Amino acid sequence: MKDLWFPSDQILIGGAWQDATDHLPVENPSTGETIGRIARGRAAEIDAAVKAAEAARTGEWGRMTALERGRILARIGQLVLERTDALARIEAMDVGKPLTQARADAVALARYLEFYAGAADKIMGETIPYLDGYTVYTLREPHGVTGHIVPWNYPMQIIGRSVGAALTMGNACVLKPAEEASLTALAFARLAMDAGLPPDALNVVTGLGEEAGAALSSHPGVHHLSFTGSVGVGKLIQQSAGENVVPVTLELGGKSPQLVFDDADLDRALPFLVNAGIQNAGQTCSAASRILVQRGVHDEVVARMADAYRKLRVGPAMDDLNVGPLISARQKEIVQGFLDSAGDLTIAATGQIVDGAPEGGNYLAPHLLTEVSPDHPLARDEIFGPVQVVIPFDDEAEAIAIANGTDYGLVASVWTENGSRAMRLAKAIRSGQVFLNNYGAGGGVELPFGGIGKSGHGREKGFEALYGFSTLKTVAAHHG
Ligand code: NAD
Repeated sequence: MKDLWFPSDQILIGGAWQDATDHLPVENPSTGETIGRIARGRAAEIDAAVKAAEAARTGEWGRMTALERGRILARIGQLVLERTDALARIEAMDVGKPLTQARADAVALARYLEFYAGAADKIMGETIPYLDGYTVYTLREPHGVTGHIVPWNYPMQIIGRSVGAALTMGNACVLKPAEEASLTALAFARLAMDAGLPPDALNVVTGLGEEAGAALSSHPGVHHLSFTGSVGVGKLIQQSAGENVVPVTLELGGKSPQLVFDDADLDRALPFLVNAGIQNAGQTCSAASRILVQRGVHDEVVARMADAYRKLRVGPAMDDLNVGPLISARQKEIVQGFLDSAGDLTIAATGQIVDGAPEGGNYLAPHLLTEVSPDHPLARDEIFGPVQVVIPFDDEAEAIAIANGTDYGLVASVWTENGSRAMRLAKAIRSGQVFLNNYGAGGGVELPFGGIGKSGHGREKGFEALYGFSTLKTVAAHHG
């Protein structure tokens, strides 16, 4: 790893880059090679970071106007934009994400900062008509210190939507990136300092989940927790938040369906059906891992998806093919375990690992499975790999029942040219997001995002996130 503009093996506390006594290796998932190291922060470093953030509340950061905060966010966004290629290369090496996809993450990070920069001075309270002799109004205030625990699959996007929104409202942040993918968090922090963010407003402690992560989520000095990750860890975070009685946003997993009706525009739907399953090698919370298809178009959809699968090329992230490696050997083992459980299910098609892909890389060919029963674990559990199952259905009622038949509720899409049906399904499907004749709406930063059920609670992105990252104070004045 050359030409990094930040110290990749240090942590950032109160604006000072600090050494740690211990380190963790940085592995390149495309080769299996160790390419660097990150600091292994623990409870002591988290405690120092929380104290630094607390100091920010009464310091320069706490006194800054919303306009000034917005200007700083805009400057950070500009620096991120200028570095998109470099950030993409770092992410490709660290996460195994093909370059084009990694670049899109860097652009999205800049876009979050632009959006929140403009929003900073547009969050207002209200005046409330009340009894004679009173004036009542509300103030939107920061929580104080916010803790951000981020996964490895979309580090830049998730930092943008959670740290970006928290800073907008004047919170001081402690960020704990995933141990598998911490580099762009450190890169971002350095750009934020360069852009003039007061030193203690953003603190970054790298380290293990059960050490630094657990220390952050249970720290009594944290006033709000934003967690994105697995359901299992999400439950622990919720317990910690309960212990300290602080609000928590949980952005967890999914088993998101796309529903294709007989009257769908298949030419438009096809790229979305496949891409939403294999993007980032299927390691996406909102991956469309279930494709529900009405019987009239079932065979055609399967044939066309299979055709697309056979063209998918899997290889090193820096080669920028359709699909990169999985994040780790462990993740590959988990996904392979799901495939082994497929038994005699039909594999309609697989992608191809390119010749010469390094032996040590965590490559796994995407799999398209058909005629899968909605009760099969492959159709119910989050796989977090490049595997999609196709489930046939007869009518609208059955489609809704299957769509709602998992513990999750993150994203769903409906493909139909029947406008009334589209509107009915948008209401009937239990999910945080429903997309009609598209999937993901381009990931727009403006769109509130979050789950129901085991997919979590609370909303990030858009203006909605700004309400979550602030608290409402009511002021009632009696003046006679
Ligand atoms: P994970 O839960 O293993 O780790 C996420 C983060 O939590 C990491 O930073 C990790 O270090 C930390 N962590 C681990 N154990 C901890 C503990 N005991 N206390 C505190 N922190 C701890 O998840 P992952 O494998 O990195 O990410 C994959 C999961 O994230 C998938 O389930 C995916 O669906 C979900 N995800 C959800 C969204 C969303 O917006 N809903 C987005 C991306 C990923």
